[in-house]
Amino acid sequence: KKYVYFFGEGDASMKMLLGGKGANLAEMTRIGLPVPPGFTINTEACHHYYKNNETWPEGLEEEVKKNLVELEKKSQKKFGDPVNPLLVSVRSGAPASMPGMMDTVLNLGLNESSLQGLIKLTGNERFALDCYRRFIQMFGDVVMGVDHDKYEEILSDVKKQVGARLDTDLTAENLKVVISRYKELYKKVTGEDFPQEPFNQLKKSINAVFSSWNNKRAITYRKINKIPESWGTAVNVQMMAFGNMGNDSGTGVGFTRNPSTGIKEFYGEYLVNAQGEDVVAGIRTPKAIKDMGQDLPAAFEDLKKIYSILEEHYRDMQDFEFTIEKGKLYMLQTRTGKRTTQAAIKIAVDMVSEGLIDKKTAVKRIDPASLNQLLHPQIDRSVSLKVIAKGLPASPGAASGKVYFDADDAERVANEGTKVILVRPETTPDDIHGVVAAQGVLTSRGGMTSHAAVVARGMGKPCVAGCEAVAIDLDKKQFQVNSLVVKEGDFISIDGGKGEVILGQAKTIPPQLSDDFQKLLGWADSIRKLGVRANADTPNDARKAIEFGAEGIGLCRTEHMFMAPDRLPAVQEMIMAQNVEERKKALAKIEPMQKGDFKEIFKVMEGKPVTVRLIDPPLHEFLPKLEDLLVEVTTLRVKGISGPELEEKEKMLKIVRGLHETNPMLGLRGCRLGIVYPEIVEMQVRAIIDAACELDKEGVKVLPEIMIPLVGHQNEIKIQKEILEKIAKETLDRHQSKVQYKFGTMIEIPRAAIVADQIAEYAEFFSFGTNDLTQMTFGYSRDDAEGKFLFFYEENGILPEDPFQSIDLDGVGELMKMGVQKGRQVRPDLKCGICGEHGGDPNSVIFCHTIGLNYVSCSPFRVPLARLAAAHAVI
Ligand code: ADP
Ligand code: MG
Ligand code: MG
Repeated sequence: KKYVYFFGEGDASMKMLLGGKGANLAEMTRIGLPVPPGFTINTEACHHYYKNNETWPEGLEEEVKKNLVELEKKSQKKFGDPVNPLLVSVRSGAPASMPGMMDTVLNLGLNESSLQGLIKLTGNERFALDCYRRFIQMFGDVVMGVDHDKYEEILSDVKKQVGARLDTDLTAENLKVVISRYKELYKKVTGEDFPQEPFNQLKKSINAVFSSWNNKRAITYRKINKIPESWGTAVNVQMMAFGNMGNDSGTGVGFTRNPSTGIKEFYGEYLVNAQGEDVVAGIRTPKAIKDMGQDLPAAFEDLKKIYSILEEHYRDMQDFEFTIEKGKLYMLQTRTGKRTTQAAIKIAVDMVSEGLIDKKTAVKRIDPASLNQLLHPQIDRSVSLKVIAKGLPASPGAASGKVYFDADDAERVANEGTKVILVRPETTPDDIHGVVAAQGVLTSRGGMTSHAAVVARGMGKPCVAGCEAVAIDLDKKQFQVNSLVVKEGDFISIDGGKGEVILGQAKTIPPQLSDDFQKLLGWADSIRKLGVRANADTPNDARKAIEFGAEGIGLCRTEHMFMAPDRLPAVQEMIMAQNVEERKKALAKIEPMQKGDFKEIFKVMEGKPVTVRLIDPPLHEFLPKLEDLLVEVTTLRVKGISGPELEEKEKMLKIVRGLHETNPMLGLRGCRLGIVYPEIVEMQVRAIIDAACELDKEGVKVLPEIMIPLVGHQNEIKIQKEILEKIAKETLDRHQSKVQYKFGTMIEIPRAAIVADQIAEYAEFFSFGTNDLTQMTFGYSRDDAEGKFLFFYEENGILPEDPFQSIDLDGVGELMKMGVQKGRQVRPDLKCGICGEHGGDPNSVIFCHTIGLNYVSCSPFRVPLARLAAAHAVI
């Protein structure tokens, strides 16, 4: 078995075995870049070490010794030699990059006699002593657990005594003092003298690096970044390059392009006369790489060449470490550079025009989920922020404004020009106008698919939901987080992408919809097979949807149109009607308004399909709340007020009581409502077809698709379709029009998916309503589950993910698959889409592609993300 690879034996593809650092050191060696020689002990040795009581596998020691001999040959130095000593670094390096999480020891191989060798060899006593004191410090800290800060105390103490400002101001004599005090500290803490035997130093350091895979920092980092425990780390042993040999030496880090903007420029920092860790440690302020020509001209020329060699070779932006020893440049590390989404897009598009990558690769490189960052205003994080609470990141983007606790108040002050954050325990359809008026919404209850979250996402407004730390007192018009009280009119800011509530007015920066971004999405469009539509209820939403590239509307919810203040009275009249005649009279008032809405939306969406869903929610949602009415009626009675005012309220109370249901989400709603009160849906269908016919006459192409919600049994769609088809035909005849339309259904009740073949007899299209489908498949209330137990399930690994955010493939996904298959058995050309929140979740989009859906539909702001994810599904 082979555990050790000399640099150049492996290559960049061997990250699992050699770790990212080792694989890329090998690769850079291969392509002829100046890398100090060395070797990598692979991750299998690390696995053995952990499985076998922290011991080395058989043969590893021989292999290390053999490679050490090779390293001595290459470097023309000798390990531990009193005349010409070889010093090495011992560096961690896992398969995934874990910057700064694990340990590294530099300048290993120094002892009292090799120190003398290094002094004579370099003629630079100060330098050699500096290496020695660094080594004692790092070895003590990393290998023996001597507190790093204790060393730093000694160092600053000596600096103070001799009046040195910087480390580099210390003379050789000063460093000797530091070293002897370091050694004392080492002995005091460990009970031993500082080890002098180099191979012993090496063995211990290698073990320390293996062990650092399981230090607390590393474990936490792995958890957050989902890096498997089982991977382990490799260990790199490498000849030292000395950046601390004087003013013709130095060290630095860089990126081949600017990682925050993506601009192709020299980006990075360096320090003269320093060793690697000094740059990050912030001991001295580093200088910008673009100015390196002044201090280290020859090395800078070499570095410039290496920028383009690295990019041409890796075909991606790289981040790298380097050290200059007496004017000679050495490369010490390279890896794919982390970048902001904005930079990622610019770099991908630029690299296509530079001919480094093709369009497919460019599309593949952008993580769809990361686009969320770009599509909403952002909080400027360059200043410090006071985060007071954390809730669910329900709708991305940032907003700040004055706190208001009531939708009416919010609307009123917003009309006066004040920026408002609506703060509610939770929101209901009654609060819509407050949400519309507000910059963003904060709720203390409810989950990612709560009303507030869904509405805010639909409108592209930031929302932090289910923020239980915020205790709202609606009477006092204030909320409290621990002892901090925030009153009506106080400023807060929210970051809906992070779920943060911030005290005061944070500065925001506008979203970036660059040309590059558009270009990239265009490439994605040419790759994807899946259609992308938007959920849009208003002409404004529809316009936004088009702007973001939607190819139609997959869900237009008609009930939102009922909520407008000028319409609600007519809607309530309709609900309170005592008989069909009265109801029809009220509906006649609503009909022209509905027709107007549809005309506007159809016009915006000219030539593109629009799926209109008939009324869905239970009727009580359009009436005042039972509790509120009870209070009002009681108040009137107590005050002794009677007459029409009281009568009116009492009548309303009776009706609301009559409509009350224990489980309204499982009650009289969806097609059940249309079956019991056909007049309502007949009016809606007439309005849709009328609108379509009128526009058709004007020459506007309209493709209406009428969607019947909440079907669970074939007979439900059968009888709804019968009466509605009749209305549609009558309307067409009246206009003598030939406008094409379709009737279809939502598949959102598990039974509907199971009997999809029976339902497809009547439905001309399916749209998977995965919010309800998930709710009913799991039996989780989507308005309560997240705040009550789903977070616990997720935290404890009971569910891998929130099924309301990403489709549960094993359960809900299987039902969808079955629905598509059975539906198409009966109707091979059955158009299938999805209109739940999942339509904007990248993994769910990919799943929709694989089960053969025709399109996904999501809120307008997530359309770009869905376009990109749909392309990822193909490549
Ligand atoms: P990390 O993964 O935390 O960056 P590294 O192993 O890259 O740890 O090393 C820490 C620092 O030491 C880096 O600045 C690196 O450039 C420097 N360094 C590592 N090995 C050598 C070496 N052989 N010669 C000079 N500097 C080195
Ligand atoms: Mg590094
Ligand atoms: Mg539904």
